[in-house]
Amino acid sequence: MAYDAALRKAVDILQNSSSVVAFTGAGISSEAGIPTFRGSGGLWERFRPEELATPEAFERDPERVWRWYAWRIGIVLSAEPTLAHRILARWEDEELLAGVITQNVDGLHQRAGSRRVVELHGRITRARCTGCGRSVELEAPPEEVPPRCGACGSLLRPDVVWFGESLPEDAWREAVELSSSCDAMLVIGTSAVVYPAAQLPLIAKAAGAKLIEVNPEETVLSRRVDAPLRMGASEALSALDEILGG
Ligand code: NAD
Ligand code: ZN
Repeated sequence: MAYDAALRKAVDILQNSSSVVAFTGAGISSEAGIPTFRGSGGLWERFRPEELATPEAFERDPERVWRWYAWRIGIVLSAEPTLAHRILARWEDEELLAGVITQNVDGLHQRAGSRRVVELHGRITRARCTGCGRSVELEAPPEEVPPRCGACGSLLRPDVVWFGESLPEDAWREAVELSSSCDAMLVIGTSAVVYPAAQLPLIAKAAGAKLIEVNPEETVLSRRVDAPLRMGASEALSALDEILGG
């Protein structure tokens, strides 16, 4: 579909929906300077996920895993929400958007002002004690790795969902509820290959919702979407915002 036609289709979908939900992935934050996992320039071109983002990797070498997380925490803490994050937050205020479901761990949606944010994969600036379960907010990357719990001395781990781990139950339940009750889902910046999160657009579609995809590259979801917008998140959302507001 040509870009102009896809944009018109997307606007038409949004104008005829009473409940719109955004489902976001690492691509929406790439414009904030946070590397994605996949896609060109993604982190996995330089690191192997099974060596770093798994419980087994942490068991084997917590220091190595924490060094990688300390680097990423530093990037996230110095990043600012993008125009795309801010438009989504404003759409929620204007009641054009019911909420955001995100796979991101960077907290940028909340920092942009979004209030209803379902975090499927946790938060990178939070650590959790492997012994007593206490959670710790990190205001800076840990200076010594691996960091230990101030209360019980056990290892802390990043409070994110690793490959092979299950999603927080409440977040998953809320995400399924939002997905199955919306009329339209904006799927922004996700390669749609990480399960079970990638099921959500399919759940939405099966329940009758229209799908709008915002991604400069084609994904496994592309052939099922109603309006594919092949461009970056901020550019696509500002184009939509301008037409909707005008
Ligand atoms: P992904 O890395 O697998 O895919 C990123 C997608 O974003 C690609 O399809 C790419 O084409 C697209 N993209 C690149 N630039 C874009 C732009 N400017 N606008 C719109 N789209 C753009 O990411 P994923 O699907 O979210 O899944 C990977 C996992 O990575 C998630 O579970 C998440 O927890 C984790 N992750 C999170 C962050 C973050 O929080 N910012 C960063 C990296 C990875
Ligand atoms: Zn502890």
